[in-house]
Amino acid sequence: MTRVHAYAAPSEAAPLEKTVIDRRELGPHDVLIDIAFAGICHSDIHTVRGDWGPQKYPLAPGHEIAGTVSAVGSDVTRHSVGDRVGVGCMVNSCGECRNCQRGDEQFCTNGTILTYGSVDRDGSVTQGGYSEQVVVTESFVVRIPEGIELDAAAPLLCAGITTYSPLRHWNVGPGSRVAVVGLGGLGHMAVQIAHALGAEVTVLSQTLTKRDDGLRLGADHYYATSDRETFRNLRSSFDVILNTVSAVVDLRSYLSLLDVGGSMVCVGAPAEPLPVQVMSLIGGRRSLAGSNIGGIQETQEMLDFGAEHGIAAEVEVIPASQINEAYERVLASDVRYRFVIDGSTFAD
Ligand code: NAP
Ligand code: ZN
Repeated sequence: MTRVHAYAAPSEAAPLEKTVIDRRELGPHDVLIDIAFAGICHSDIHTVRGDWGPQKYPLAPGHEIAGTVSAVGSDVTRHSVGDRVGVGCMVNSCGECRNCQRGDEQFCTNGTILTYGSVDRDGSVTQGGYSEQVVVTESFVVRIPEGIELDAAAPLLCAGITTYSPLRHWNVGPGSRVAVVGLGGLGHMAVQIAHALGAEVTVLSQTLTKRDDGLRLGADHYYATSDRETFRNLRSSFDVILNTVSAVVDLRSYLSLLDVGGSMVCVGAPAEPLPVQVMSLIGGRRSLAGSNIGGIQETQEMLDFGAEHGIAAEVEVIPASQINEAYERVLASDVRYRFVIDGSTFAD
């Protein structure tokens, strides 16, 4: 075991605090990563605060990890010491079920092992990227292309793949009319990716305060959802709506914005249910769907796509001591557009 500095939540009601956690000895297929940056995803906040159910504490969150390989196990072939690598929301899966075989490890029928808060093969509870180092089996470690800085790359490991995967699955491309709801961590990735895929992109944000940023990131149009006129004017005008909002939204209003045959895909995962009027679907042969991150091979494809198209996260790098303040700012939608923790500050 190796002891490393980390930040963990001691309970669902307490702020995160500095601590130490154990990392396992390198197995033959393991990679040891020195964490350079770890993104703060809204899911980290939902999880440690118990929004999605009880957790095992203390829990170190963090599933947007970018760093450098500092050691490899004896049988590792995919990565070498010094490589720039990333780890996202998963660290293992069975590899054999139909979903893993298809490359959808996030839907492993035998239970995906998440980067934090999952029971690992050895019975321990996985601990995430808010720490100095992590040990991960080589097949769940992806390559970060040279063109992307490590701090700007970290959020791609969750926010990037979570928006790339549904945009690809719902065949977004030239001619697609896409609305992105919420311009936060996921939303600002979705705008860049949908634009690079050739779609006509509209941002639906609570206010117009981030309008200039949205247009700069690649949006063609930007509307405030606090203005009821928005819903009147945009009726039946989208093929795909990607909902990245971390809170409950009024589905009926958003579904009315879909054209016939359109799909509203929810990736935002609020604690409370979203009630739906079935007539909102029937009245336009509309679909309401969800999507969960993306597979490992698809994550590599997204990183390569990002490097090719100059897509990366806009980040505010913070020391670990500011994690709790950053959480409050994320909850207040006061983030442009991802907080990323400097991995060299966990011991300070
Ligand atoms: P974030 O940075 O906080 O962005 C969420 C955005 O939603 C905010 O910036 C805000 O955008 C909008 N918003 C927040 N509260 C709202 C409210 N009450 N009403 C309307 N709009 C509101 O969060 P994130 O990290 O992007 O994550 C977003 C959600 O996706 C979270 O629920 C997270 O857990 C979930 N998630 C899901 C997956 C998956 O695989 N499905 C993966 C990662 C994250 P505006 O200021 O522009 O309105
Ligand atoms: Zn996430």
